[in-house]
Amino acid sequence: MAELKWKLLTRKRASSTKGVPPGKEDLAWVTNTVTLVYGQRDAVLADTFLSEQHSKELLDWVVESGKNLRTIYITHAHGDHFLGLKLLLDKFPNAKAIATASVVAAIQEQIKPEYIQSVWQPRFPGQIPSQLVAPEVIEGDTFYLEGEELKVVELGHTDTSHTTALYVPSIGLVISGDCVYNNTHPYLAECDEEAITEWLRALDRIESLHPKAVVAGHGVLDPDSSPRHIGETRRYLHDFVASLARTATAKELYEAMLALHPNRVNPGSLWAAAKASKPS
Ligand SMILES: [Zn+2]
Repeated sequence: MAELKWKLLTRKRASSTKGVPPGKEDLAWVTNTVTLVYGQRDAVLADTFLSEQHSKELLDWVVESGKNLRTIYITHAHGDHFLGLKLLLDKFPNAKAIATASVVAAIQEQIKPEYIQSVWQPRFPGQIPSQLVAPEVIEGDTFYLEGEELKVVELGHTDTSHTTALYVPSIGLVISGDCVYNNTHPYLAECDEEAITEWLRALDRIESLHPKAVVAGHGVLDPDSSPRHIGETRRYLHDFVASLARTATAKELYEAMLALHPNRVNPGSLWAAAKASKPS
């Protein structure tokens, strides 16, 4: 059995948060990352993109790989990871899209027209694919690619509830979903302090697997996928909790965190978190 390999496709898009205070315009973007794990013939894709254009580029990239796409695994129920799914399935009708039961249930809610029209269309006008589908519920927590295991790791609340990572033990790869961030402000707008504690436990869980490589859902354009981003994400979460306690307003919290993390991309994510934590 040949060793599995993997590669990444990253695409840059606008932040989903508008109205960010001025001063960090050069960092006002975010990437999404999809992972192709492949063997001699077959492949598994982890996550998809948000926009129709990026989904088409993703299709071409998978076709170019020459691999038979068998499975698309969705790590968590945020639209930037699953809105492109239908376009992929149309192109690869033999592929099966899967996710955990909790993720599938949340996606089914989020692909309802009223949710798309109120949440995604205003943020990305004209870019959202017109046809949307949810994945099917995975049976158990393991599936296979050319005889090698891929294991679903339940992470609880990280950037949203019921998130997961995908672990490929034979090559020491963890595809972290949005648990680990690479030089990007994590999305904390859905987190209270209890949820941040859960997120810290999720980072410990990933670290306990002693991965050789960790894919961050959001990172730089050419990411190193180093496990060191586990510790850097942990440090950011600790800094956020400490800054919450010593600031009074959203603006103060935002500025305190920017002083500690001046070079991370997507300050919009931090602004959304600051406003959610300290509504005026
Ligand atoms: Zn995301």
